[in-house]
Amino acid sequence: MDFDYDLFVIGGGSGGVRAARTAAATGASVALAEESRLGGTCVIRGCVPKKLMVYASGYGEMAEEARAYGWEFGEGRFDWRPFREKLHAELDRLEGVYGRLLDGSGVEVYDRRAKIVDPHTVELADGGRKTAAHILVATGGRPVRPDMKNAHLGMVSDDVFDLDELPKSILIVGGGYIACEFACILHGLGVEVTQFYRGAQILRGFDDEARGLIADSMRARGIDLHLGTNIVEMCPEAEAGDSVRHHGTDSDAAGANGVAEAAPGTKGPVWVKATNGDEKVYDAVLFATGRKPNTDGLGLEEAGVTLARGGAIEVDEYSQTDCPSIYAIGDVTDRVNLTPVAIREGMQFVETVFKGNPTPVDHALIPSAVFTQPELGTIGLTEEAAREIEPVEVYCSSFKPMQSAFAESPERVLMKLVVSVETRKILGCHIVAPEAGEMIQLAGIAVKMGATKEDFDRTVAVHPTMAEEIVTMREPVRRS
Ligand SMILES: Cc1cc2nc3c(=O)[nH]c(=O)nc-3n(C[C@H](O)[C@H](O)[C@H](O)COP(=O)(O)OP(=O)(O)OC[C@H]3O[C@@H](n4cnc5c(N)ncnc54)[C@H](O)[C@@H]3O)c2cc1C
Repeated sequence: MDFDYDLFVIGGGSGGVRAARTAAATGASVALAEESRLGGTCVIRGCVPKKLMVYASGYGEMAEEARAYGWEFGEGRFDWRPFREKLHAELDRLEGVYGRLLDGSGVEVYDRRAKIVDPHTVELADGGRKTAAHILVATGGRPVRPDMKNAHLGMVSDDVFDLDELPKSILIVGGGYIACEFACILHGLGVEVTQFYRGAQILRGFDDEARGLIADSMRARGIDLHLGTNIVEMCPEAEAGDSVRHHGTDSDAAGANGVAEAAPGTKGPVWVKATNGDEKVYDAVLFATGRKPNTDGLGLEEAGVTLARGGAIEVDEYSQTDCPSIYAIGDVTDRVNLTPVAIREGMQFVETVFKGNPTPVDHALIPSAVFTQPELGTIGLTEEAAREIEPVEVYCSSFKPMQSAFAESPERVLMKLVVSVETRKILGCHIVAPEAGEMIQLAGIAVKMGATKEDFDRTVAVHPTMAEEIVTMREPVRRS
């Protein structure tokens, strides 16, 4: 049977673009549909703008520290608007780069929504239909608000990058990495940040000791973090009436008439009642409480593709769905929701389908970072998970790094190795420190290669660095 294309990719984010380009490089005829902007979540409303905001938010503290080193500055102030303008210019530039990369690879791009009609046919938003030997679904995910009255008053992560002005105060709801990163970013930019998380500790799924240290550091910086806390009720401040007047607001968002001005771009001052009984008005509320795979209305189930309970596409180790001609990669499969993983899944799909070399996706030992202040870099098992599996030794060092100790900052860093008693292999490595993301990328190579504790011990320290501690820890702090 003749098809219009060998491959039709739905979604022009991290995974889809890479898969389309690498498939086209094998000589395949490839088309890609993107309903919004090329680059997807990572480039337009995720990793890239977030990391640029992480950088922006760090300079205030850096300037403070510089003073302790003898530098003199006047009063510093962060101006959001020129930053936002530059940020968006950079995102436009990157979007253009993605478009040119696809063009240069010979991929035909349709800038509209696509859905599946049958195992070999997609329909575009303009009604046009295209057939393909294979369809790759790479539609990613989107942030969702909790199911509660007035939840629309809260922003989601996508909205932060488009704010006209920064709010004076914000309530961030959630304890995952996106919530914690935005708490640190916005605090660093001068916003008064309160964070509610309903669980007992932030960053569920990461190593407990690392989670504890990050929570302490966030609080020490001035983030008002409330654990075991959630919103019971919320409404526009103007509707809160007596309740607000009685309980007042300790946010300086309130104007002369007692009603706070809405920060442009936010949904306006919101009165919030918390599970701990507190009532307060915030300039803005940000829900970072979860994401959902983009599978609604895609025609997947009609084509024989099985969806999991949360709507994610079920795939095998080759990213193939229950419909043999349809594959899925990236966040829409809800396996490991990170950009390099979506890219890797895309490349292994091409290897399997277009290069005749079936290659299962390797999800073991993926290094990752949380860009809080300080950062967390992590690979492998947490101490808690490892000791459920086998006897382990834990090597751990928490100390004040030279740079901030000199500035008399209380900041501590953490270096931790979880080691198998039987094989001596490093099962997990967890670093809480400035630039921990950079450190874990390199330590990750050794861990992925199967390095043992003794391999780390044989490696000579680089002095004076924070990272040298990772090869100089001699005695385990615990065996379990
Ligand atoms: C705030 C935030 C911060 C993040 N930080 C990091 C980080 O630091 N490091 C990291 O590795 N990961 C990070 N991530 C996760 C990362 O962005 C995702 O894992 C990654 O973008 C997933 O890529 P993807 O190709 O699966 O989907 P996406 O990048 O989401 O791309 C999917 C694309 O499909 C399009 N689309 C959807 N439906 C259709 C349709 N029917 N027709 C046509 N087009 C469609 C969408 O518009 C989108 O462009 C972050 C995410 C967020 C939200």
